[in-house]
Amino acid sequence: MPTDLPTGRPDDLPGEIRHWIGGELLDSADGRTFAVCDPVSNSPYATAAAGGPEDVDRAVAAGRAAFPAWSKLGTRERARILYRIADGVEAREERLAALETFDSGLPITQARGQARRAAENFRYFADVIVGLGEEAFRVGDEQINYVVRTPIGVAGLITPWNTPFMLESWKLAPALASGCTLVLKPAEWTPLSAGLWPEILEGAGLPAGVVNIVHGIGEEAGQALVDHPQVPLISFTGSTDTGKHIVRSSAAHLKTTSMELGGKSPVVLFADADLDAALDSVVFGVFSLNGERCTAGSRVLVERPVYEEFTRRLAERAERVRVGPPADPTTQVGALVHPEHYTRVLDYVETGQREAKLLAGGSRPAHLPEGNYLQPTVFADVPRDARIFQEEIFGPVVAVAPFDDEAEAVELANATEYGLAAYVWTSDLKRGHRVAHAVESGMVWINSHNVRDLRTPFGGVKSSGLGREGGAHSIDFYTESKIVHVML
Ligand code: NAD
Repeated sequence: MPTDLPTGRPDDLPGEIRHWIGGELLDSADGRTFAVCDPVSNSPYATAAAGGPEDVDRAVAAGRAAFPAWSKLGTRERARILYRIADGVEAREERLAALETFDSGLPITQARGQARRAAENFRYFADVIVGLGEEAFRVGDEQINYVVRTPIGVAGLITPWNTPFMLESWKLAPALASGCTLVLKPAEWTPLSAGLWPEILEGAGLPAGVVNIVHGIGEEAGQALVDHPQVPLISFTGSTDTGKHIVRSSAAHLKTTSMELGGKSPVVLFADADLDAALDSVVFGVFSLNGERCTAGSRVLVERPVYEEFTRRLAERAERVRVGPPADPTTQVGALVHPEHYTRVLDYVETGQREAKLLAGGSRPAHLPEGNYLQPTVFADVPRDARIFQEEIFGPVVAVAPFDDEAEAVELANATEYGLAAYVWTSDLKRGHRVAHAVESGMVWINSHNVRDLRTPFGGVKSSGLGREGGAHSIDFYTESKIVHVML
């Protein structure tokens, strides 16, 4: 790359990324590794241990050995450890941001928020577990029935490459709070930041073997975890195709699964909305995090009277977004995570030019000859059967289409296989609620965006997922409930 651009290469980059099993950093049993690249030079900076069934087996054994003591620890004591983990995460904010930016291509200013969000996951679930009561049901004067909640065992956690550390924390925190031990399989394109967990968790006093990390390729390490008979639960965040495959594999052992999958979330914008606020929200929703955001509002449906104005202003904003090296604090869109993903996104951009009208972007910015860069891209007049309307692109690309009335808006919003998030913009609150109820999605924001309330259920419908995590849903997921009936 040109030498005047910051490389963002953090100090003390490890040359080797290893598994963490039973409190020890280990190579794979068979010694295999895979190369890890950064998305700016697209050249290898480290090798990571490539886990397979034997490594997963060792990790599950460590998790099983640690389970009796961890699951029986008082909730207050577990909560204290979770609070210390949160402090450890926050204390590494700058280091985490530097690693995440370098490894995943996230703009540094956006990577900085990740530590706080990750830390909050631990504090929140610490509070939940301490405050959790168990249910009891009295039947007349003769009988009482009460529920005993027990952690399910060694949980298998499989995570994607977008905001990798934060999404790992989203699973680690409730699993640990619930009393599970676990094996985490981080995404192979972005394994770097997971290397912070051992020092954070050990520093917080978490006993060895409670958390185990096995790196590797999804089809090998991930599959071995899914297939392991002593892992009764899989929490997965990733693509819909992989999710379907994991559900099929999990059926062999009737595992409990939670699937947080892809999206093609609609923004429904009525003519009476606050257009400035909606525009800010759309730009943020689809271009922040490089557009590699599961809840990105990647289809914008706009009521006809404001369609021309909105598309023109959105295109102007997209052209002004600063694309640049991830480590540059003025960068708003960085480098897409991996050349394979970049090529996939570019293929969609090419397809989109045949399917719809290109209003902005559509190519690599001229000042960035290398690295996985794309100028934020806006397509207008996108027909509902277009691939760029139907399929998740997972990059800074937005499809805009007009609608004439509320019924058509809802129909278009629901016209894809996905159902993760939706956004409604209108000054008519009755209509806002009506549309929110009619849209097929797990989460809807009315006149707002990006508010994450950790108490609320998180997840999607249709091809966007199965089950809910968040708040009490997470505790339900990581525990079994047994009912005890007692004659008084
Ligand atoms: P992916 O499905 O390719 O990979 C996700 C994880 O699954 C990785 O760790 C991978 O190694 C592993 N994996 C792959 N094959 C496997 C197998 N056969 N068995 C077990 N594990 C396997 O997804 P990705 O490209 O890393 O992530 C992007 C996707 O994640 C997008 O579709 C995005 O919408 C989705 N996502 C969803 C949410 C949500 O909350 N709904 C959040 C973030 C990302």
